[in-house]
Amino acid sequence: MRLHFLGATRTVTGSQYLLETDRARVVIDCGMFQGSPHDVIRNRVPFAYQPGEIDALLLTHAHLDHCGLIPHLAASGFRKPIYATRGTVDLTRLVLLDSAKLQEEAAQSHQRFATRNPDRAAAEDEATTAELAAATTEDPAAATRAASPAAVTALRAPLYTVVDTNTALALFHGIDYEAEVPVAPGITATFMDAGHILGSAIIRVRVTEGDQERTIVFSGDLGRPATPILRDPTLVTTADYLLIESTYGGKIHEPEEEAIRLLGEAVRLTSDAKGVLLMPSFAIGRTQEIVYQLNRLLGAGTTPHLPLYLDSPMAQKATAIYRAYSDYFDDDARALIARHDAPIDYPDAIVTNDPKDSLAIEQAARPLMVVASNGMITGGRIVQHVKALVADPAMTLLFVGYQGDGTLGAHLQQGATQVRIDGQDLEVHCQVRSISGFSAHADEPELLAWLGNFTKKPRTTFIVHGDPAAQAAFEPKVRALGFATAVPGWRETTELT
Ligand SMILES: [Zn+2]
Repeated sequence: MRLHFLGATRTVTGSQYLLETDRARVVIDCGMFQGSPHDVIRNRVPFAYQPGEIDALLLTHAHLDHCGLIPHLAASGFRKPIYATRGTVDLTRLVLLDSAKLQEEAAQSHQRFATRNPDRAAAEDEATTAELAAATTEDPAAATRAASPAAVTALRAPLYTVVDTNTALALFHGIDYEAEVPVAPGITATFMDAGHILGSAIIRVRVTEGDQERTIVFSGDLGRPATPILRDPTLVTTADYLLIESTYGGKIHEPEEEAIRLLGEAVRLTSDAKGVLLMPSFAIGRTQEIVYQLNRLLGAGTTPHLPLYLDSPMAQKATAIYRAYSDYFDDDARALIARHDAPIDYPDAIVTNDPKDSLAIEQAARPLMVVASNGMITGGRIVQHVKALVADPAMTLLFVGYQGDGTLGAHLQQGATQVRIDGQDLEVHCQVRSISGFSAHADEPELLAWLGNFTKKPRTTFIVHGDPAAQAAFEPKVRALGFATAVPGWRETTELT
C-alpha cells in the first residue's frame, strides 16, 4: 500500500492525501491551496490521479483548505461517495456554495477587465501560464498534461461553478462519530472528534491487503482541550502510521483566561468611551466562540450589556448549523442548554442580513459592538466598517484571530498609520488591539501532549500542515518523544509496509 502526499506539505493549505492499495484508492481531504500566488497556482495543476478511478473521499472538516477542491474533483469525473460527519456535510455545503459563487464572480470581473484591457490581460495570462509550468515541474507527468493549449484559456475560468458544486454535494454521506464504516474494498474509516470546528474529525483508516492489516491515522486539524462549545480532541493511542498537523509548531498560545480578560476589558473601554468595538472574525468557528464568550462575560456581570451587531450572513447560517448539532457540544455547553440558556446566542443581538442594515450600523446609537466577516479584512462586510471607522478614535479594532502576511488586517495589527481601502487613503486613528488566545488549533505543547497518549509508537509519523519554520521547530521535539518522523514534500509517495 502506498500513501501520496498531495497537499499541506511544508505549507498549511491544500490538504490532500491518496491512499492506494492493489484493490482500492481513497482520497483523504481535497482542499484548496490559499495564501501566496505560488501556493494558489497549485489549484490549477491537474490532479495527481484519475478522479474517475477513486473509490471514496474522506473529509476531515469543512474548512476550505480541506474541502475546497471537491467540486473541481467532481467536475473532473469523480462520482463516488464522500464521507464526513453530518455536521461537516452541512457546513461544507455552506462553504462550497459560497466558494463557487465567489469564483464565478471573480471570473466575470476578470472577463470585464480583459475586454477593456486585452493587452494587460494577455500579459497576465502569460505570466500565470509560466507560473503554472513552474508549479508543475515538480511532477513531470502533470507538466506534460498542463502544457495543453487549453490551459491558457482555462486559467481565468472559475475552478468550479455552483452547478459543479451541487453535483459534488449530492455525493456526500453523513456519518456518525466513532462508527467504523466500510468505504472501499478492504478499507474502513472511523471518524473521531478533533475538537477543531463543529463536525471536525480525526480519521482512522484501517486497510486490509492480503493477510496484512494496517491502521493509518490522519489527525486533520487538531483543536485544543477545553475550548468552549466543542468537545476535546479524541485521544488516540495506537496507529501503524500517523499524519499530524503542525500549524503551531514552535508556538505557545496565550492562555484562554487571558484572552477572555482582554475581551472583557475591550468591551468595558468601549462602553466608557461610548465607542464602537469592531471585531473581524471568521464566519465558522471563531464567530460562534466570540459570541459564546461575550454571552458568558455578560452573564457573569463582568461587562455591561452593549448592543451586539452580528453582521455576516454566512456566520448566521453557520450558527444555525451549530445550533442544530448541539449533540456535538461539550458537557458545559450542553449543561447551559439544559438550563435553557443558549450558549451561542447573545441577548438581543441584532442580526443584519440586508446590506442596507449593515451600512446603517455606523449611524446607530453608541456604544455598540460589531462582529463581522471576514477575519483578515481581505473582503466581506468588515471592509466597509473599517473604512468608515478607521479614523475614529472612539473605535477599537479588536483582532481575535490569525492575520495572514500581507493582508489589511496584518498591516493594521502591526501599527500602520495609513491604509488604502477602495483606492482611498485613510489615516488610522482608531485603537487597535489583538487577542491571540482564541485559536482553533492546538499549540505545540498541546500537540505534544496529544502525541503523548500513544502507547505504541507509529512506524512513521508524518508531519504535515505546517510552514517550514513550524515543522523545523516541531520535528525534533516529536523525535525526542521516541517517534520516527518524516516531513514529506509535495507529491511525494511513500510505501507503507
Ligand atoms: Zn481547519
